[in-house]
Amino acid sequence: MSTQNPIFIPGPTNIPEQLRRAVDYPSIDHRSPAFAEMYEPALEGVGRILKSKEAEIILFPATGTGAWEAAITNTLSPGDKVLAARYGMFSHRWIDLCQRHGLDVQVIETPWGEGAPAEEFERVLMADTGHSIKALLVCHNETATGVRSDIAAVRRAIDRAEHPALLFVDGVSSIASMDFGMDDWGVDIAVTGSQKGFMLPPGLAILGISPKALEAVATAKCARCFFDVRDMIKTKAAGGFPYTPPVNLIRGLNVSITMLEEEGLTDVFSRHYRIAEGVRKAVEAWNLRLCAKEPALYSDTVSAVLVPEGFDATRIVTHAAEKYGVAFGVGLGEVAGKLFRIGHLGSMTDVMALSGIATAEMVMADLGLPVTLGSGVAAAQEYYRVTNDEQNVAMRRAAA
Ligand SMILES: *Cc1c(COP(=O)(O)O)cnc(C)c1O
Repeated sequence: MSTQNPIFIPGPTNIPEQLRRAVDYPSIDHRSPAFAEMYEPALEGVGRILKSKEAEIILFPATGTGAWEAAITNTLSPGDKVLAARYGMFSHRWIDLCQRHGLDVQVIETPWGEGAPAEEFERVLMADTGHSIKALLVCHNETATGVRSDIAAVRRAIDRAEHPALLFVDGVSSIASMDFGMDDWGVDIAVTGSQKGFMLPPGLAILGISPKALEAVATAKCARCFFDVRDMIKTKAAGGFPYTPPVNLIRGLNVSITMLEEEGLTDVFSRHYRIAEGVRKAVEAWNLRLCAKEPALYSDTVSAVLVPEGFDATRIVTHAAEKYGVAFGVGLGEVAGKLFRIGHLGSMTDVMALSGIATAEMVMADLGLPVTLGSGVAAAQEYYRVTNDEQNVAMRRAAA
């Protein structure tokens, strides 16, 4: 692997120079006011990124998986019923984690390539007249298939069923890259990690917890200690952590939020859309298809590209790494070997994306797939050069 080349996996993402500098910082006393001075603005900043005025923001030294675990263990008890749909490896892993904690998960099996089945959720919630379902778990952006689900539609489904279930949303590969409206969508817990949209190294689990979900914390009986939000909330009031905080990452998080806000969240989202759209034009020019079943489901952070039947897509990823020093994502679980993934989130420009598209073309040509060199690149170039370049200017300004 070359550290000069950008990576095209959907997390961890490329770390911009300012963030590398921000986390390169000497140890400080985490019980001193110096820590509180970086902790408090980081929490406020995360609240703005989640678009929540009400959420309690919690940071744990962990990754997205830790945030999943913190979400359920702090609000639920063994035996509690939760509802979830499985439509990719990440929605699957959250279900698996719940089962290992002794929760009773009602799983709606959904074809991989489709998104959260809001109508099916509504039907199940309507039928649950005794309100035994305590929470609904939804993966906003299924990173394994490149599918973005409509969380507002899920909220409407819950409301139409007049069901009190909490809504927990995995926003690990969407938050800070695609629009996320925690308060607007009535999300009770939103989870993410530092190494995706926030463009930082891995190591921070980030949660937004609604007042309604906080009420559930008092009665939840799942075992937790390290991830106990009650300890976090107690020490937060004094500007500190119940144990040693990941100071460098929290310092980096402030800088990340500043970069996102200087570019402007709306511009960050439209840059992701534009870059993704260029990648999609390239895929079309290669005569290949995305795993996502329809345009409304297309993710702006990752494209999962199906390869011709009989061809092992993992070869593309291995060859790209070995010959060109470029990382793409492999297919996971049910779609292993059937697709490869181009991650295009975080610190990404159209020029970077073009290098990934060009590399994918070389790899596919090397491996004998019927791809014309330059076809995808040209399609993306055509799109990038005629679409709004003000976003590039905004991003360069934020990165200056
Ligand atoms: C990356 C990711 C996760 C969490 O993975 P970690 O490796 O634990 O950070 C969870 N959900 C989605 C959708 C992801 O993309």
